[in-house]
Amino acid sequence: MPAARGPAAPSTELLIGTRAPRIVVVDDEPSILEMMRLRLESMGATVITVLRGADAVPVVRAQSPDILLLDIMMPDMDGFAVIRALKEDEVTRQIPVIFMTARDEVDSRVLGLDLGAHDYVTKPFNTIELVARIRAALRVKALQDELTEKNKMLEQLATSDPLTGLPNRRTFDEQVYTEMERARRNSQPLSCLIFDIDDFKDINDVHGHQAGDEVLRQIGRVLLGRKRRTDLAARYGGEEFVWLLPGANQQAAIELGDWLLRTISEMEVVTTPVSLRVTVSIGVSTYEPEAHGDVPTTALLQHADEALLEAKRTGKARVVFRELSVLPEPMLEELGQTAEAEADDPFAQSPGAPLAGPANLPDS
Ligand SMILES: [Mg+2]
Repeated sequence: MPAARGPAAPSTELLIGTRAPRIVVVDDEPSILEMMRLRLESMGATVITVLRGADAVPVVRAQSPDILLLDIMMPDMDGFAVIRALKEDEVTRQIPVIFMTARDEVDSRVLGLDLGAHDYVTKPFNTIELVARIRAALRVKALQDELTEKNKMLEQLATSDPLTGLPNRRTFDEQVYTEMERARRNSQPLSCLIFDIDDFKDINDVHGHQAGDEVLRQIGRVLLGRKRRTDLAARYGGEEFVWLLPGANQQAAIELGDWLLRTISEMEVVTTPVSLRVTVSIGVSTYEPEAHGDVPTTALLQHADEALLEAKRTGKARVVFRELSVLPEPMLEELGQTAEAEADDPFAQSPGAPLAGPANLPDS
């Protein structure tokens, strides 16, 4: 049985979570710095001391300490100016500041707290009180760090697809808007590929979802391996992927589509107990600002999507390009809403072919 824990004997170790905390101490009095260093280092903290107020901000930026102990009265740059600078900076804003004042400086304490300091201690220090306040600040910092980490994870979850590691549809929909604007501004082409794994449902039905997942993962790796830094390749839906290609004209986009078609059809997907081969159908469209002028942001993907449907209709495992037509915005919006359901689209460019419908029509 461990001895009962009482309030009388505080632990001799300072920790943040399970690691040693990093503490910056700023004071224009060398003897105070030395005393703090000895005390805090003896409790396991990593201590960085700073003698001049003006050095405090760059040191804090460089060291990103867990807490900052800050003297107020300093000749070159006082503690208030230091706190102000730290609170203005996104990077240092969250670091708890404990400032150090003389016993009679009540106004200073109030001002320091108003400026966003976490706490204060009075000189000369009562060591037990000092350590208790440092511990409290470290607890706050630990919670903040945890929250920051969780927010990062949530952000990651909200913007990417966990199976393939690719960005998800939401990210693509946001990005396509930005890229259309950029293309317009720079008079640069912007191409979009949208593709879909042929007969994916059969893979899942016959070989199980694990096999289907492996197919998706492997295609994700193909995209990640080939895409340029400026491209955006995303998983758009179940077995649908999109690839946005800033600067790529029609020819470049079709060539990339051909490459993708070949690469995926030659790819062996190793799953247990079988190895699979799959094909994809690819729809391509290109926005040329000088030829097309202002078109709705959704037009590029819509035309690529129509091309994909045509690729499915005309036998799968192929690349189809659809010229971006210049249509009045209301009509395009209507197209977008009804493309899945309506067959009587007067703007379809392939004669007689319905926009949507069963994808498994026989080869023509
Ligand atoms: Mg001083």
